[in-house]
Amino acid sequence: MNTLNKTKYLMNKYNINPTKKFGQNFLIDDNILQNIVDASNITEDDIVIEIGPGLGNLTQYLIEKAKFVILIEIDNSMIGVLEDRFKEYQNYKILNQDILKINLDELTREYNSSNIKVVANLPYYITTPILFKLLQESSDIKEITVMVQKEVAKRMVAPCKTKDYGILTLMVEYLAIPEIKFFVPNSSFIPSPNVESAIINLKKEKRYNVKDENVLFDLIHSAFAMRRKKMINSLEQAHFLNMNKEDIKKFVNICGLTDNVRAEELSINEYIKLADKISETKNK
Ligand code: SAM
Repeated sequence: MNTLNKTKYLMNKYNINPTKKFGQNFLIDDNILQNIVDASNITEDDIVIEIGPGLGNLTQYLIEKAKFVILIEIDNSMIGVLEDRFKEYQNYKILNQDILKINLDELTREYNSSNIKVVANLPYYITTPILFKLLQESSDIKEITVMVQKEVAKRMVAPCKTKDYGILTLMVEYLAIPEIKFFVPNSSFIPSPNVESAIINLKKEKRYNVKDENVLFDLIHSAFAMRRKKMINSLEQAHFLNMNKEDIKKFVNICGLTDNVRAEELSINEYIKLADKISETKNK
């Protein structure tokens, strides 16, 4: 049975109505599912975490390819479906939990593997918090391949000085190497979402040195708090490190930037330079 017919069969058998509350859009196109697995570079030695398995359409492919799959699903009406569907397999475990409440460091430590991959068709209502969590927690997670809204994928790879360039771009640039793999038509899902989708692959890798990461992250978030304003005003109004405007101006100027500079005009290297100058003084 192909995935489209399997989905209809399971929805009917278990009386499942996809709910918007949990961002449920089930993937029904076998070519796309195969392409996601190919884009994720998983091998038979890999531990994979799947966020939101739903009816198990992507899981079916992952479970056949990986050594072990950890399924994290918030909706308890999916748990019985998954258990029935995969009863012949031993290489998986289901956690009926909210991904945002899971301690990923603790979870991954149990598996004693330093090469864990995440593969998921993400629930779009919480894409950004999930991405930040995956990027910042657990150094054992090395690679992330996820379906996101096309707009979000574009933000992750946006060039400096464009409207898509922002907090997500800079955090991704600092913590990973992003690559948009392909776009996915709305017709590949049931129900069909009203936004376009893309598969993005993120290889976690820190390519920059920073004195104090917390200062850098706080700086980036505060700089974009009011992105249409001058950066010094945005930093002041976001109470960045409780600094006053004169001090902020001083650091911005030391880094060779003008008072008029806006958040989207700074590259990651300029943010790091500014954060480092501020950290040096803070720690004196
Ligand atoms: N993987 C399935 C597929 O591709 O057909 C379903 C993907 S659907 C876009 C998103 C899934 O994430 C749903 O199964 C939904 O119940 C689940 N989900 C939503 N919020 C979640 C959360 N906070 N933690 C874990 N799973 C969540």
